[in-house]
Amino acid sequence: MTSQDVYPTDMQSSQPDSAPAAEAAASAFVAYLRHLHQTYLPLREGRVANYIPELAKMNSDWFSICVATVDGQVYEVGDSSQTFTLQSISKVFVHGLALEDHGRDYLLTRVGVEPTGEAFNAIILDERSKRPYNPMVNAGAIATTSLIKGSGPTERLNRMLSMFRRYIGHDIFVDMPTFLSERVTGHRNRGMAHLMLNFGMIDPPLDEALDLYFQQCSVLVNCRDLAIMAATLANHGINPLTGEQAVNPCYIRDMLSVMYTCGMYNFAGEWAYTVGIPAKSGVCGGIIAVVPHQFAIAVFSPPLDERGNSVRGVKVCEEISQHYDLHLFDSSMGCQTFLQRLTQPGERF
Ligand code: GLN
Repeated sequence: MTSQDVYPTDMQSSQPDSAPAAEAAASAFVAYLRHLHQTYLPLREGRVANYIPELAKMNSDWFSICVATVDGQVYEVGDSSQTFTLQSISKVFVHGLALEDHGRDYLLTRVGVEPTGEAFNAIILDERSKRPYNPMVNAGAIATTSLIKGSGPTERLNRMLSMFRRYIGHDIFVDMPTFLSERVTGHRNRGMAHLMLNFGMIDPPLDEALDLYFQQCSVLVNCRDLAIMAATLANHGINPLTGEQAVNPCYIRDMLSVMYTCGMYNFAGEWAYTVGIPAKSGVCGGIIAVVPHQFAIAVFSPPLDERGNSVRGVKVCEEISQHYDLHLFDSSMGCQTFLQRLTQPGERF
């Protein structure tokens, strides 16, 4: 075990007689995560995003993997306290807030749920409806963000930060250099916003909507935070550590469905086919993957492939999904869940 490996935080509270078995299973699982970390750390493929100048400062060797279960166990290896910005991962959670603010039917009149097959920053709208295709690509996310309720920019930002705080379980902040860097260079996003304004899909003032979008992308987190946020989605919207309801559970289905079909951009189809669980990536190099009712995986590693997904992140999720038969349509695990396997004394990872 390295100094950066962390065993689940609730191990101390285990019953005395079950503690050794649970600890053995936990240490086997951490060893498995460490093995994945060691296997993929030397991988030198991909490039750190540089179209937002602040992001180019990230180190290509930063790499962490965290798993959080719906019953509050957290397993972490690597640089799990290294901070980075949420970027597109924020889109999942803001989608949830917009659903709470307006309901499913209204939201569907403004943003679709159809994958684009195009890059995340493509300047395209659905030709027929004039809606952006889905809330996981930039155009759709800007439209979704523009719908967040509040009496002015400060109230809207505060409502958004409170929403993120419920998922993460502690106060969070916008990284000012990243926000300014996005704002100065975000002409493409500005172009999309104008196109949507032209078709009545978003309302003025555009600068406020864009600022809020740049702010949500610039929220600072670490890999452990990401895992808790994603585990909250796996746990009917209840943060597994604080017990707080982060989002109305009736919208989890909407959020996860769109993540499943659109969360990995123009890799979404292949991801759904091979990995088979809802996921979302961001140009910071983060990926979250959610196994409903069980647990969530978060990986952080900045080098990206040409579609904007973390190279190491994709590999790690592919491996974990295969190892545990996590594909939603794979029945080979039968009735045995990941959580049952995780607590089985004889389990070998
Ligand atoms: N802030 C980034 C952008 O708007 C988010 C994109 C991403 O993470 N894919 O371009």
